[in-house]
Amino acid sequence: MTSPIDDLIAAGARVAAAGISPGSSGNVSILADDLVYMTGTGTDLGRLSEDDIAVVTREGTFVRGAKPSKELALHLAFYEKNVGHTAVVHLHSPFAVAASCLEPWSETSAIPPLTPYFVMRVGQSPLVPFRVPGDPDLAAQLLALPHAFHGALLANHGQIVSATTLDAAIEAAIELEEACRITLLTDGKPRRLLPAEDVAALAARWGTPWAESAALVR
Ligand SMILES: [Zn+2]
Repeated sequence: MTSPIDDLIAAGARVAAAGISPGSSGNVSILADDLVYMTGTGTDLGRLSEDDIAVVTREGTFVRGAKPSKELALHLAFYEKNVGHTAVVHLHSPFAVAASCLEPWSETSAIPPLTPYFVMRVGQSPLVPFRVPGDPDLAAQLLALPHAFHGALLANHGQIVSATTLDAAIEAAIELEEACRITLLTDGKPRRLLPAEDVAALAARWGTPWAESAALVR
């Protein structure tokens, strides 16, 4: 069995290799044995070492290792919201950033259900109002959203997802980036969304959140 630190180092390399971490920015965390292991501030996701990992409590109290990223509060917010999830990935992946600069599609999802995979692997992903990176109020804004979600776009900033395993969180981050790309490619065109009954069935079967009656913003 590998350690949480080894898992994080491998995860950083995988995210960097997927090309969704411009300038090796972004951060990844794991919840293990009631501690949060997170990539430290200013670290390069593609070249992590043991010294780059911060260990904090679920309340954010420093335990050991590197200085945690200023985006720690966002990760803690996701663990608080999604009990049972053990990994969070936050990225400034370009299509997610671009989609985060648009008005959201609905009050519960920044982007529409265009492909089954987005519904199956991520589910509705709301737009969290803009706050400057590191502002503790950003996490408060995220937690103030009343509906369920495993992924979100942070306005004019990027994406964040959580899942029950680290592999699933990375898959979700890749899928959310792809869903944002497809949203942007089809934006402004007479596009066809997935039928609402199929979205509901997919979300139910894959255990992802999707509100059927969310008010459309645009
Ligand atoms: Zn960020």
